[in-house]
Amino acid sequence: MAVLTINLKKLEHNARLICDQARAVGVSVYGVTKGLCGLPAAALAFKQAGVAAIADSRLENIAAMRAAGVAGPFVLLRLPSLSRVEEAVKLADVSLNSELRTLQALDNAAAVLGIRHKVILMVDVGDLREGVWPEDFPPLLTECLRLRHIEVVGLGTNLACYGGVIPDENNMELLRRLAEDAEQRLARKLVVSGGNSSSLASLFSGKFPAGINNLRIGEGIVLGREAINRQPIPGAYLDACTLTAEVIELKTKPSVPVGTTGQDAFGGVPVFVDRGLRQRAILSLGRQDTVPEGLAPVLDGAEVVGASSDHLILDVTAVPGMQIGDLVTFIPGYGALLAAATSPYVRKVVC
Ligand SMILES: *Cc1c(COP(=O)(O)O)cnc(C)c1O
Repeated sequence: MAVLTINLKKLEHNARLICDQARAVGVSVYGVTKGLCGLPAAALAFKQAGVAAIADSRLENIAAMRAAGVAGPFVLLRLPSLSRVEEAVKLADVSLNSELRTLQALDNAAAVLGIRHKVILMVDVGDLREGVWPEDFPPLLTECLRLRHIEVVGLGTNLACYGGVIPDENNMELLRRLAEDAEQRLARKLVVSGGNSSSLASLFSGKFPAGINNLRIGEGIVLGREAINRQPIPGAYLDACTLTAEVIELKTKPSVPVGTTGQDAFGGVPVFVDRGLRQRAILSLGRQDTVPEGLAPVLDGAEVVGASSDHLILDVTAVPGMQIGDLVTFIPGYGALLAAATSPYVRKVVC
């Protein structure tokens, strides 16, 4: 069985490294747990390291963490669904929002519970995922001020997710100016949430933009890398999360299939390069468990050459002494980690 090993000490170290660096420039960190499917032990390690809140995109994950005794506060990262506003205000202390209609529904749901629900309003500064266009932010804020059970605690933006847009002086300055105007109107300080792990390169290079006082960080903590060029964060562990699977076949075979080829199991038409006879290991790991393309073998010389639903083919020609039953460990990328953490076939081992 494939095993996802999560080292809590390393997670806590990475989280502390980032929280300390952020605190030094007046920035708070929301620790994002969705990459680990809301694993409560990970949330506790994040809290131990000093994150200001636990953030996740799924209500189910927040419910699981609450049930396991994680104290929160909890931030819901994905915009609430109109059909689930009651759950959103019950489970999340803060949610990210961009639709007035949803905000009105959250207001009604909070009124029924007799509580005030906190929101961060999202502004799209160019990445084309969630958020109102910058000129639509002031009117949205005006409307929100009428909602008696909604408290606007901040504004934020998301970058480098859909459009791959990098945080830079222009888009951060745009957010800062909107924040400054809003703070003047409300006569209080706001959370100005500048982005995700794509902001870590500027945080660690000492060129962090002025006026941004919060980041929402997942990948940087769990994988130890920033999210623009996937460069390691200085001093961070890159192996806090690893994925391991067992060798179930080991044979020498040609590198090009024998016979007439058509589509593979997923409708693609594979292309092969003839590298002669190769020593290949088949591992008990596939697309039901992870994203095979996102796996980097720890073993020197091993190379992922392909995968189907349940089988991963590893070229081990350059790896001496491999045997059936051997365990092979990989460092997952973010997509591979997300899938492994979510797959019911992957055993999670916390150490
Ligand atoms: C997932 C997510 C994050 C965290 O992104 P990382 O790149 O993993 O740090 C931050 N904000 C939002 C809105 C998200 O959905």
